[in-house]
Amino acid sequence: MTLPRRLAAPPATWERDVDVVVLGSGAAGLSAALAVRPVRSVLVVTKDILSAGSTQWAQGGLAGVLHPSDTIEDHVRDTLEAGAGLCDEAVVRQLVAEAPKSIRYLMRLGAAFDPEQGGTDIALTREGGHSHNRIVHSGGDRSGAEVQRTLDESAIGAGVEVMGHAFALDLVTGTADDGERQVVGVRIGKTDEHGVLASVGIVTARAVVIASGGYGQVFASTSNPPAVTGDGIAMALRAGLPVTDVEFVQFHPTVMWRGPDALGQQALVSEAVRGEGAILYDAAGERVMAGVHPLEDLAPRDVVAAAISRRMAEAPGGVDDHVYLDATHMGERFYERFPSITEACREIGLDPAVDRIPVAPAAHYACGGIRAGLDGRTSLRGLYAVGEVSATGVHGANRLASNSLTESVVSGTWVGRDLAWELPDRVRIDVDVDDPLDHRLLDPSRLREVRAVMSRHVGVVRDALSLASAAGALGSIARTMRTAKRGADDDGTGEGSPRPEPSRRTWEATNILTVATAMVAAAAARTESRGCHRRSDYPSVQPEWVRHLDVTLDAVGIINVFDRPS
Ligand SMILES: Cc1cc2nc3c(=O)[nH]c(=O)nc-3n(C[C@H](O)[C@H](O)[C@H](O)COP(=O)(O)OP(=O)(O)OC[C@H]3O[C@@H](n4cnc5c(N)ncnc54)[C@H](O)[C@@H]3O)c2cc1C
Repeated sequence: MTLPRRLAAPPATWERDVDVVVLGSGAAGLSAALAVRPVRSVLVVTKDILSAGSTQWAQGGLAGVLHPSDTIEDHVRDTLEAGAGLCDEAVVRQLVAEAPKSIRYLMRLGAAFDPEQGGTDIALTREGGHSHNRIVHSGGDRSGAEVQRTLDESAIGAGVEVMGHAFALDLVTGTADDGERQVVGVRIGKTDEHGVLASVGIVTARAVVIASGGYGQVFASTSNPPAVTGDGIAMALRAGLPVTDVEFVQFHPTVMWRGPDALGQQALVSEAVRGEGAILYDAAGERVMAGVHPLEDLAPRDVVAAAISRRMAEAPGGVDDHVYLDATHMGERFYERFPSITEACREIGLDPAVDRIPVAPAAHYACGGIRAGLDGRTSLRGLYAVGEVSATGVHGANRLASNSLTESVVSGTWVGRDLAWELPDRVRIDVDVDDPLDHRLLDPSRLREVRAVMSRHVGVVRDALSLASAAGALGSIARTMRTAKRGADDDGTGEGSPRPEPSRRTWEATNILTVATAMVAAAAARTESRGCHRRSDYPSVQPEWVRHLDVTLDAVGIINVFDRPS
C-alpha cells in the first residue's frame, strides 16, 4: 500500500510573495504572526475562519508558575513526570521559565483572566498531574476562547494579513546556493466557505511556519473541532520530513458521552471539574479511581483514561461505554465556574448541580508531531513548526494538562521574534515533478470507516492484534483511493466509484488516512506501555524503549519507522 506524495489539485493560477507565511490561526500561528509583523510582511493562511482550531475550545487554561509558593523546579518536575522519560529536560526548562512571561504578555494584549473570588490577583487552579495551583483561566471554562479573541484582535489590529478559507496543500521546496534543500513556499487551495475549490495558487516566502494543530479528527470520538485533521503532519511527511512520536495521543478521560452513535467532536468535561473535587463512578456506583493512583481522581490523564477503559471493559454483562462524573457537591456554583459544560449538559437534558455526568475517554491531544525546537526550527531550512503540530520535547510521552496553550504562545512568539530578526535568503523553486502517483485522493465517504477503525483498534489500550487489524483495514481503504480528475488514468481500483474532486473534504480525508497510517505503524513498533501509549500485550515500561520513533514517507509513498535514542 502506498500513500500520495502530493495532494491533487488543478494547476496554480495565482502567486503571492511575502516574507513569512504562517499556516494556521490558533494560538501558535497568531502568536508567531503577531511577533513577526512589526518588521516583516506576514500572511496567515487558514483553511476556515480564524477561530476554527482547538484554541477556541480550550477550557482549563494556561499553566505557569505565578504563585510565590510554586517553583520552576516543581513545574519542571511535574512536566517530566507526565512525559514518562521522553521529555527533553532542557526544552522543558525553557518552556517553564518562559510560561509566566507569556501569560503576562497575553494580559498586556488584553486577555482577561479570572481574578480570585473577591480579590484582584489572578485565580490559579489545579489540574491532573500538577503539584500546585498554577493554571490561569478565563470566563470559568472559556479560557481558549479568550486567548483566541485576544490574539485575533491583536493580530488584526497590528495589520497581520489573513487569507481565510485557504487550504495549505503542500510545501514547495528549492535548492540554496550551498546545495541545501530549503522550503520556498506553499501551494494553497482557495475554497468557498463550504470547502468547494475556487482556485489554486502559490505563496512564496522566505520562511514557512506550520501551525496547523493536532490530529484528533483521525478518531471517531474526539474533543477536537472538525478543522483538526493532521494536515500539517501529512504535509511534512510528503515533504520528506520525519514526524516524531505520533503514537502518543492523549485521550481525555472525561469527554461527555452522548450515546453510542455520537461521532466527531464531543464536549469536554474539563479536568478542572475533578480539580474542584468531582469523583468518577462506574455504572454500579463504585468509585473508579480509588486505590488506582495516590492522586486518585486527579491522577495524570493516561492513568485516569486507562482506569476508565479497564472499568468499562470489566463491566458485568459486557462492555460499558461510559462511566459517570459526580460534581453535585458544587451545587449551583458549577454553573458559574463551568458555563460551557453546563450548557453541554443542558443540551442532553442534565443538570450538573444534581445529576452525574456520563463521560468516556476520547482523543484529545497529539503529543507527537513535526520534530522542531521550541524556536520552531525543523530539519528543513526555512520551515518552522509551532504549537500542537510540533514535537519539541516538552510533552514527551504524555502532556501535562494546560502546558500546550502555554507552549503554543511561547513557541509561536519565539519563532516570530527570531524571524523578525533574521530570515533565510531566497532560493529558486525546484522543477515541480508531476508524478502520476501523486494524483490519488481519498473519497471523503470512506472517512467514517477510517475513524471507526482508529477508535476501535488504536484507542486508549492497543495490542499487536488490534494494530494489525487497523493496518489491514487502512491498507484496504488506501487501495480504493482514486485518481482525481486531472486527465490521468485511474489506478484500476475502486471500480465504478466516481473520482473524488479536489476539495477541502477530500484533502482532509487523504491527510487523515496518511496520519492514521503513520500512527498505526509507530504504535505497532513501540512494544511497551509508556505515557499515553498503552499496550495490553506489553503492559509495562521497558527501559530499552527510552527512544523516539520517527516516521517517514519514502519516495514511493511507503511509511517507514526508525527509532533513535531520547
Ligand atoms: C476541547 C479542548 C480543550 C482543551 N483544553 C486545553 C486547556 O485547557 N489547556 C491547554 O493548554 N490546552 C488545551 N487544549 C489543547 C490546546 O487547545 C491546543 O493544543 C492548542 O490550542 C493548539 O494550538 P495551535 O495553534 O497549535 O492549533 P489550533 O488552535 O488547533 O489551530 C490550528 C489552526 O490551523 C488551521 N489549519 C489546519 N490545517 C490547515 C490547512 N491545511 N491549511 C490552513 N490552515 C489549516 C486551523 O483551521 C486552525 O486555525 C484543549 C483542546 C481541546 C480540543
